[in-house]
Amino acid sequence: MVKDIIEHKQAEEELLLLQKINNMLNAGVGQEEVFKIIVDGLRSMYNYESVAIHLLSEDKKHLTVDGYSSDSKLAQKLEKLTGLTINGYKVHLYEGSLFKEIVDTGKPVIVDDISWVLKSYAGKKIPQSMIKIAAKLTKANWGIGVPLLAGDKIVGVIGCGSVEKLTYEDAQRFANFGAQAGLAIESALTFEKLETAYDELKHSNKLKDLFIDIMRHDLLNPAGSARNMTQMILEDEKDPNKKEPLKLILRSSKRIIEMIENASKLAILESGKELKFEEKDIGQILKRIAIEMTSLADEKNMKIKTNIKGKFKALVNPLIYAVFSNLLDNAIKYGAKNSEVIVKIKEDGSNWKISIADNGDGIPDEEKKAIFNRFKRIQKGAVRGSGLGLAIVKRVVKAHKGRVWVEDNPGGGSIFFVQLKKA
Ligand code: ADP
Repeated sequence: MVKDIIEHKQAEEELLLLQKINNMLNAGVGQEEVFKIIVDGLRSMYNYESVAIHLLSEDKKHLTVDGYSSDSKLAQKLEKLTGLTINGYKVHLYEGSLFKEIVDTGKPVIVDDISWVLKSYAGKKIPQSMIKIAAKLTKANWGIGVPLLAGDKIVGVIGCGSVEKLTYEDAQRFANFGAQAGLAIESALTFEKLETAYDELKHSNKLKDLFIDIMRHDLLNPAGSARNMTQMILEDEKDPNKKEPLKLILRSSKRIIEMIENASKLAILESGKELKFEEKDIGQILKRIAIEMTSLADEKNMKIKTNIKGKFKALVNPLIYAVFSNLLDNAIKYGAKNSEVIVKIKEDGSNWKISIADNGDGIPDEEKKAIFNRFKRIQKGAVRGSGLGLAIVKRVVKAHKGRVWVEDNPGGGSIFFVQLKKA
């Protein structure tokens, strides 16, 4: 009868403890506090000597003590003896360890010899002699370890040491509690992870803004000066030995500027800011970019042919320049020497269909989609690039509700197509 009453009271207390945990979770209380409530609650409810929560690592190779409750003098003595800190202690799951058995089988374990538990804690880290002393320090002889379950998944092990004899029923009841507490722990952990991820995201967004600022103001200006000065010196330089390195500096500084501009364009697009659109003739834009790129094409003895006649009005943002100049730049970069790049616009129902064709090596089918992803570069020998260009093209075209894709050029090489709505 007395036992019945005690058990009934304990069941009630258990329920209250679980409710308390639930309330704490709903209130967004952190993992550490929730764990403390669990271990303290269990210890006082059942008069155990010690209770500890151990969380299982992602790779399932070890457990970490993530909250414990015990006579504070005992904890101090054990820490002093071993020179280790209990909270955060890593328990390795080696063959033959009690903890490994619990994790592997998902079943509770009950022992009547605490030194076995201590051995499982220690692994090879703590010598046998120390384990004997530790076993004498704790008054507990009995131990129970149960899996902490979140549904079918083991998230850890909860264990207790007891002076009084423990029975199979105790283990069973403790396991039931473990199954319920596991769910609570899992949600506490998820909450904690979400909070950290949110903080990291906020932090990295701030960093991103800072980098965009640095790029646009602090890097672009000096890079621009370097380019302009080199250009001026190069124009006056007569000595061919000095001309070559100057050309190299000029090319490099142009590349730096191109990369900074591309990266900050991408950052603007990804920041989700609304773009403004104006009616423009995209035929004129294409012709202008083709003229600007003539000197680049000359370096490879290439010709840019723009067969564009008539008016091609569309609602565009100035970022559309980046689309056409990136595509044309690629056609020259990856096109064959002494070949032609052909730029056309055709009417296609309610759209304009722009095409930029080159006679390069072309793009294998399996890469045709992936090249539009950020930093995707196919090995291109000596051709240097950042892998940002097409990512920008794709995002800008998307912002215009248009479409961009690549097809094989029947005459060899590739044709990039851009479809934009007519104004
Ligand atoms: P980058 O040219 O800076 O590497 P892009 O994003 O502009 O970056 O292009 C991504 C990849 O797509 C390039 O590295 C290249 O492998 C491939 N590519 C792009 N345009 C062409 C083209 N016209 N012909 C062949 N390959 C191309």
